[in-house]
Amino acid sequence: KEETDLNALADEYLRLAYHGLRAKDKTFNAKLVTEFDPALGKANVIAQDLGRVLLNLFTNAFYAVTEKKKALGGAFEPQVSVQTRRQADGIEIRVRDNGTGMPEAVRQKIFQPFFTTKPTGQGTGLGLSLSYDIVTKGHGGTLDVRTKDGEYTEFIIHIPAS
Ligand code: ADP
Ligand code: MG
Repeated sequence: KEETDLNALADEYLRLAYHGLRAKDKTFNAKLVTEFDPALGKANVIAQDLGRVLLNLFTNAFYAVTEKKKALGGAFEPQVSVQTRRQADGIEIRVRDNGTGMPEAVRQKIFQPFFTTKPTGQGTGLGLSLSYDIVTKGHGGTLDVRTKDGEYTEFIIHIPAS
């Protein structure tokens, strides 16, 4: 573990994920919204692992808005946001998208290894189970999800102060 600026890490991985998708598909577009707590300070984390978590969450978010755009067309404005917050007992990072959302039956299974709703070849179903282990076992934190089918999804990472 090392003292890490999670605002910088989140910003870096959001842009990495976004530009990676843009490089593959010039028509891909989404509004990126960042709200970084200037008082976040540094957190004692495994930066490489937490970077993987963020990349997973951002990749899923961009996929969800892309699917919704396919269904709704031009009127839909895809948006992916990341927010950090210093709390009394640690640090919180929220990753939110206004994409497909999930029905309850899907939400219940997303942290299981190999669970995916994506077509063969497009998803391994390992991103969220790995992310869950990194946040909980690797950092003693929590990874929660809030979602509304057809509306939005929000993942909430909480890392306790060490
Ligand atoms: P994969 O991306 O390979 O499918 P993940 O473990 O990352 O595997 O995600 C598992 C499943 O959770 C996805 O297939 C999808 O059904 C659902 N999911 C994850 N993130 C989102 C999101 N932001 N919006 C809607 N569904 C999501
Ligand atoms: Mg994934």
